[in-house]
Amino acid sequence: MFLKRLGIDLGTNNVLVYIPSKGIVINEPCVVALETLDNKVMAIGNEAKEMLGRTPESIIAAKPLRDGVIASYKITQAMLKYFIDTLGGRIRLIKPDIMIAIPAGITSTERRAVIDACLSAGAKNAFIKAPIAAALGAGIPIASSSGHMIIDIGGGTTETAVISLGDIVTSTSVRVGGNRMDQAIANYIRKKYNLVIGERTAEMVKIQIGSLIKLKKDLSMEVSGCNAITGLPESIIVKTPDVTASLKNTMNEIILGIKAVLQKTPPELASDVMDKGIIMTGGGAKLRGFDKLLTNVIGVPCEIAEEPELCVVKGTGVAIDNLENYKKSVLWAK
Ligand code: ADP
Ligand code: MG
Repeated sequence: MFLKRLGIDLGTNNVLVYIPSKGIVINEPCVVALETLDNKVMAIGNEAKEMLGRTPESIIAAKPLRDGVIASYKITQAMLKYFIDTLGGRIRLIKPDIMIAIPAGITSTERRAVIDACLSAGAKNAFIKAPIAAALGAGIPIASSSGHMIIDIGGGTTETAVISLGDIVTSTSVRVGGNRMDQAIANYIRKKYNLVIGERTAEMVKIQIGSLIKLKKDLSMEVSGCNAITGLPESIIVKTPDVTASLKNTMNEIILGIKAVLQKTPPELASDVMDKGIIMTGGGAKLRGFDKLLTNVIGVPCEIAEEPELCVVKGTGVAIDNLENYKKSVLWAK
């Protein structure tokens, strides 16, 4: 069995890889550890994430993407090559097609960088716009003439798009996502409780007790960090309303991006969106109350896709498994 095609969701926070007949074979944090001397990949994913901030000079551990955009060409290329080599076996007679989901909001220069990284990693290339992949993965019939709206909330970006006849009609990409929420939570806790916490702790707070709407019963958890004045370790109890309050500004930025898409959507498509509602994807869509808050402020019913964090990679899979049907939605680059 030769590896002919693979689908990749190269996210700011997570990288997922799909292989036809096998399904999703990689779902890991998007971090790579390289040997400085020869750019050889030592580890990817969780193992590499553990090395962040702890490497000697001979090793680099870094994230290929920042805010949804290539932060390091070398690291991105090394990661893609690692996937092709480890998944494709030693002897490769044919170059695989890579269906790689890239943000709709990136510039043509940034897009070129992703394509070049794919090509130099040994791929015969294809790529797909991330919101189209997200829609396919959420089971939306994108080829129909009816308008569909999708919001993908990732770690570094929130991308909103209206799709019709297999392509994007209007879209926005704001460089605000789950990571900015984590920073906002950490800042709030420092100001209100004089407690300095790390971003990973803040993310745990968001996931475990966070909500964008008032819950029937508040959740709470113990959070440890350093006292901002004494510098000594300390624990406090944080409750859901703290998280709701801390996310207000971040949410306003996200909502502005979503509204901007609706404002520039042609009326016929806007009325389709009103009828059918909006589908939310990406890991950030799982934040409690996100769908209800959006439904309230936008006035269009919003619904979270099944397994929202897997939609984009599943969508790359749908596209490579049915290339004939999605020719128009896929951009070929060689
Ligand atoms: P990317 O495509 O940028 O790699 P993902 O779609 O994988 O991002 O989403 C990652 C984001 O989703 C992170 O900010 C993470 O904290 C957030 N996330 C994951 N699960 C949850 C959850 N249950 N509640 C709130 N946020 C979540
Ligand atoms: Mg993503």
